[in-house]
Amino acid sequence: MSAERPHVVILGGGFGGLAAARGLDRAPVEVTLVDRTNHHLFQPLLYQVATAGLSPAEIAYPIRRILRRQRNARVLLGEAVAIDAAAKRVCLADGEIGWDYLVVAVGASHSYFGRDEWEAHAPGLKTLEDALEIRRRALVAFEEAEREDDPEARRRWLTFVVVGGGPTGVEMAGAFAEVARHTLARDFRRIDPRTARVLLVEAGPRILPAYPEELSVKAQRQLEALGVQVWTGAAVTGLDASSVQVGGDRIAARTVVWAAGVQASPLARSLGVPLDRAGRVRVLPDLTVPGQPAVYVIGDLASLEEDGRPVPGVAPAAIQMGEHAAANLRRALRGEPLVPFRYRDKGSLATIGRRSAVAVLGRWRLSGALAWLAWLSVHIFFLIGFRNRFVVLFTWAWAYLTFDRSARLILGRGGPSPSRPSPPGPPGSTPSSAG
Ligand SMILES: Cc1cc2nc3c(=O)[nH]c(=O)nc-3n(C[C@H](O)[C@H](O)[C@H](O)COP(=O)(O)OP(=O)(O)OC[C@H]3O[C@@H](n4cnc5c(N)ncnc54)[C@H](O)[C@@H]3O)c2cc1C
Repeated sequence: MSAERPHVVILGGGFGGLAAARGLDRAPVEVTLVDRTNHHLFQPLLYQVATAGLSPAEIAYPIRRILRRQRNARVLLGEAVAIDAAAKRVCLADGEIGWDYLVVAVGASHSYFGRDEWEAHAPGLKTLEDALEIRRRALVAFEEAEREDDPEARRRWLTFVVVGGGPTGVEMAGAFAEVARHTLARDFRRIDPRTARVLLVEAGPRILPAYPEELSVKAQRQLEALGVQVWTGAAVTGLDASSVQVGGDRIAARTVVWAAGVQASPLARSLGVPLDRAGRVRVLPDLTVPGQPAVYVIGDLASLEEDGRPVPGVAPAAIQMGEHAAANLRRALRGEPLVPFRYRDKGSLATIGRRSAVAVLGRWRLSGALAWLAWLSVHIFFLIGFRNRFVVLFTWAWAYLTFDRSARLILGRGGPSPSRPSPPGPPGSTPSSAG
């Protein structure tokens, strides 16, 4: 790579960062993409890993492989910890890197609304590690219930609470119900997994608040048909290893998943520019940062309003921003004025379970099997890698016919459960739990 050409550093190889890197293919620049993982993750299908429907490698792809044909791009595995805009340097956890242009695309994570201690009891879903931990906890819960003598303690193991009624919460609750009602239905001897209780708790007045109200109502009905209890207007006020407090109700539950709230990457703070309430960078319409025309912030980390409405934190918006930042960067190199970003909303889809989903596609509002088919096609189409598309399609077809979920492996350390209070008894005895 030539040292004379401007150096563009892209932080993050998610939807936004990857689109920006690809948009700079053959541009007269040297591109360095830095990510703390070595893979691009297709987050919309993370819940499938968390509920044993897919394996990690089926929804992730090595970034190095994706960019291997792009001669002006290189990939570095590293974690950015601060940005020094004045010195045009990024501090990594183990070094630093200089830039002429910077594209920041490190995304956002879940917010516990100031109660970070809840995270240990209610993991969120953002990375493959999160998904594997949720999978482990859910599968262990059934195993523990099978070993349990005390009916109350068994009930506690068989209660699954999902906090947050956005698309991820709805997907998770629907999938938990399917696992209990179908996948595991005949696999245990002492317990009947179909008696598991799955509860979706949403603080607002309805689930899927970003969708038209009629679709929220239909989604709730579809969830209830799967056996999920949906509580709306119900804010979580307390959480520990074995229960969730919702207003005046204390729900005894061992498995809780957090799918509420968004919080930007802390890296945004080091830019020293105005942030919104979720910690996202308030970008200018051309996606640069106020006072720093060589710094672009895109994707979930960017806060931008169009016609009084925020650009949503979804994959298509991140991809479009990445492409736009690359196009504006090329303009900057040619000395041309930058162009404002316009989000092209292609619709939204949320799946609920087998043959049920809701979709807004232009003027069309769909629910049920048709929406589910649309969801299926879009997700297969946008997965990266032919092999992944093929394997996912095959796995889903198999799961559709057999109700099986092939990735039901308990992996990871921590024993049967991180919160199991007493060690197992001698061989032959049935260990009891304090519940
Ligand atoms: C569970 C889940 C389900 C979703 N479902 C949908 C859906 O169905 N449809 C939809 O449109 N959107 C969905 N989204 C939202 C969508 O995934 C995001 O809007 C999109 O990923 C944002 O892209 P991004 O490039 O801004 O960030 P990301 O895709 O999150 O990428 C950020 C990248 O930055 C890296 N990174 C983070 N911090 C650092 C650091 N300090 N140093 C180096 N690298 C770093 C990360 O490893 C990651 O690769 C979902 C999100 C989640 C979590």
